[in-house]
Amino acid sequence: MGNNPNNNRQKKNNGPKNKQSILVFLLCLMVTLVGISFFTNIFKGDTKEITYNKFLSMLEDDEVDEVVIQNGTITITPREQPDKYRETKYYTHVIESGDALVERLEKYDKVTYELQVPDPATELISNLVTLMLPTLLLFGLLMLFMRKMGKGNLMGVGKNKAKAYVQKETGVTFRDVAGQDEAKESLQEVVDFLHDPGKYTTIGAKLPKGALLVGPPGTGKTLLAKAVAGEAHVPFFSLSGSDFVEMFVGVGASRVRDLFEEAKKNAPCIIFIDEVDAIGKSRDGHGGGNDEREQTLNQLLAEMDGFEASKGLLILAATNRPEVLDPALLRPGRFDRRVIVDRPDLKGRVDILKVHAKNVSLDETVDFDEIALSTSGAVGSDLANMINEAAILAVKHGRKAVSQKDLFEAVEVVLVGKEKKDRILSPEERRIVSYHEVGHALVSALQKDAEPVQKITIVPRTMGALGYVMQVPEEEKYLNTKKELEAMLVGYLGGRAAEEIVFDTVTTGAANDIEKATKMARAMVTQYGMSRKFGLMGLASQQSKYLDGRAVLECGDDTATEVDHEVMELLHKSYEEAKRLLTENREALDKIAEFLIEKETITGKEFMKIFRQVKGLPEPEETEKKPVPRITEKTQE
Ligand code: ADP
Repeated sequence: MGNNPNNNRQKKNNGPKNKQSILVFLLCLMVTLVGISFFTNIFKGDTKEITYNKFLSMLEDDEVDEVVIQNGTITITPREQPDKYRETKYYTHVIESGDALVERLEKYDKVTYELQVPDPATELISNLVTLMLPTLLLFGLLMLFMRKMGKGNLMGVGKNKAKAYVQKETGVTFRDVAGQDEAKESLQEVVDFLHDPGKYTTIGAKLPKGALLVGPPGTGKTLLAKAVAGEAHVPFFSLSGSDFVEMFVGVGASRVRDLFEEAKKNAPCIIFIDEVDAIGKSRDGHGGGNDEREQTLNQLLAEMDGFEASKGLLILAATNRPEVLDPALLRPGRFDRRVIVDRPDLKGRVDILKVHAKNVSLDETVDFDEIALSTSGAVGSDLANMINEAAILAVKHGRKAVSQKDLFEAVEVVLVGKEKKDRILSPEERRIVSYHEVGHALVSALQKDAEPVQKITIVPRTMGALGYVMQVPEEEKYLNTKKELEAMLVGYLGGRAAEEIVFDTVTTGAANDIEKATKMARAMVTQYGMSRKFGLMGLASQQSKYLDGRAVLECGDDTATEVDHEVMELLHKSYEEAKRLLTENREALDKIAEFLIEKETITGKEFMKIFRQVKGLPEPEETEKKPVPRITEKTQE
């Protein structure tokens, strides 16, 4: 996701330091007060209560040295202290009248007595200190702890965090967003509206209050939202859906309220809510209710209804799981416009590469079309990353400009990670990995009767691949025939088939292939209507299209079992086919694998040369067009 540079947040960061020092100060104060009272008690010594009779008998026995009478209490200092290190005093309550007591004390010459009249001011202060101060201290501490927990002060629990993400000018324009022409087009009128709301309102046109940007991660949803703000020169308020939802019910709702209040003051402006599914999840109760989220959502709905679109407030929200959103959010008058920001196509990828290479020095070898062809499926953030990696590689190699070779290397780095030089495969492992990768490539070569790969390598990579095949990509495909899918299944299982044929055992390296093959076989049976048994019956539906594209079965348990059998059979047939192809071409398999074990990398040309030699085929004429690689099969750790 895009990061939101902001200054306000920095300012906010000073807060906790101050709070901490206040907290430490208050704690010290408390400890000191407790300490003082403790020590004064020690030095003051003990004060014990005695009965009035005991007091009288002490007077009789001449055990009293001094008497202080105050507020109906008699404090007695004995003539002899029981403990010579601590002063002990006694107290009792006045029972007889004051005059009678004075008369009684007058009788004892040796006893000094004092009548104290309390001073109302001192009494008040002492009460305040003894009662109010600890209460105030406790209250202060409580507030600070609450604040530390991120809940604001007691009155303003959950003050809006949105302010921290405000950008007055995003500085991003539509020119920075490439390959999303349809999305830009739908947002262009919104920009126009923010520029000049009057133009639309005079004619009576109402503009959407909100637009939902839907697409896989990294395709430029945040970037597009910023570009809308940048084009319209309006402030950009951005928040992530999860920022709203807190532990306490009602906090999120209050944040939504604050956010809208703030935004209204700054209208025209844009509010961008990233990952809106965090609050906008359907309230139908799947997976247990969440009061806080529901309240936040309700507040958002209420706010969206509450403002006049003519004020120039526009809400953009991004999600990659539109199917989980509450229908109330999607109804007209709220996020009624849906802008699809999908993976870029070939031309889109070229454009994105160009946008990001704007400030990068390139040499004459660079051909973005080739790179775009070999990165089918990559999203904007991948491509941006590739350009940057290529520039870093060029610097590392001491060159002044990025070359095509750097770019290809960067593609590999982004897709399969860096070369892991310290991972040394044992000779046996190298053999297995080589045969595995050649198995994939040879099966494809035999099926297509053409150069199947650009490159096979068995240099381990940091993202877990021990070896991989870079296929020659064809033009971008939007449709696949059943035959093609079946050939792909055989190709996926070619690696494992080679292992079994050559080593008569199998390894863990095929996990990724098996996963892909099974997914495809399952989709053929349940979604594409390509099995004879079920025909055109749809048995699964796709969930989270923009994330992992997981399919969920929608059939009875018995049918699910049958589906499993069908998938198993399809995979079995493909595996047998792969084994047949490789057994029939064992010599080519051995020769090419040998070459790979020795050299670690084999190009498509070298591959085909050995293949033709073994098969006794003539060398074809040189063609002009260079093939472009694309990474497909890889052996997993
Ligand atoms: P999303 O919000 O869809 O997950 P972002 O907008 O955060 O993706 O994209 C991340 C980064 O990828 C952007 O900052 C930008 O550098 C790059 N990027 C993504 N899509 C595009 C695009 N269509 N054109 C140019 N750059 C893009």
